[in-house]
Amino acid sequence: VNASRTTPIAWICQTCGVQVAPAKVPPAHCAICQDARQYVGWAGQHWLDPRSLAATHHIAFREEHGVTTLHQVPGVAINQRAFLIPTGQGNVMWECLSVCTDAAIATLRVHGGVAAIAISHPHFYSAMVDWSDALGGVPIYVHAEDAAWIARPSKHIERWRGARLDLAADVALVHLGGHFAGSAGLWWRTGPRAGGSLFPGDALQVTMDRRSTTFMYSYPNAIPLGPSAVGLLRARVAPLAFEDVFGYNAGREIIGDAKRRVEASFDRYLAAIAA
Ligand SMILES: [Zn+2]
Repeated sequence: VNASRTTPIAWICQTCGVQVAPAKVPPAHCAICQDARQYVGWAGQHWLDPRSLAATHHIAFREEHGVTTLHQVPGVAINQRAFLIPTGQGNVMWECLSVCTDAAIATLRVHGGVAAIAISHPHFYSAMVDWSDALGGVPIYVHAEDAAWIARPSKHIERWRGARLDLAADVALVHLGGHFAGSAGLWWRTGPRAGGSLFPGDALQVTMDRRSTTFMYSYPNAIPLGPSAVGLLRARVAPLAFEDVFGYNAGREIIGDAKRRVEASFDRYLAAIAA
């Protein structure tokens, strides 16, 4: 990067994709990547200029199992997808992305706009403030227990507390914990099809067989959660009914019979760490 710039830039970490508060020179380290749940890129800490990212990437909109999803093309950092969840109170953008383009904002407006952004955990805070600002200053819901991880503050960030926040009659944020103390899911009780769905971020991670989930403190560094943390997670998932689970990236979903499969995954996991 060119350190002689005079205009502050809200730099984006190349490895985790999370944006920091505007500064002329990027910070030496990324707090998210220094944490045991993530890692510093093998070539060292690098920062990206969001304007350069927007010039070299675009946002693709897709329909996946009845849900509108947003993807960065080409991929960036952890490369999560975002979801557009329709509610009686307007669309909720669940999860967020590092690349924010004018074209994507225009496409969202064609889809009816965005009433609020909500995010599962700090690895996906991404360029949430850029997206909120571009959408007219919509609220960004993050769980208060993860507030210390907010790298770019904004008056639009709402730190919600407690076990559940209803965003609409049939869409709620649910506190799950585990992976992060404030890890949250989005529970859509009536969609995209009858029986409902759960969008758990990385609190439950859909595994590669797409028939089960796992529950890790760190996925890239393979640090499992222990039995008490998983037991608490299981108790928080137990009251939620859902047919489908939509995981963090493209194609990671369990379509059909997902509640039973998650229950079986808890049994399998707890047996594995007890053996
Ligand atoms: Zn990082």
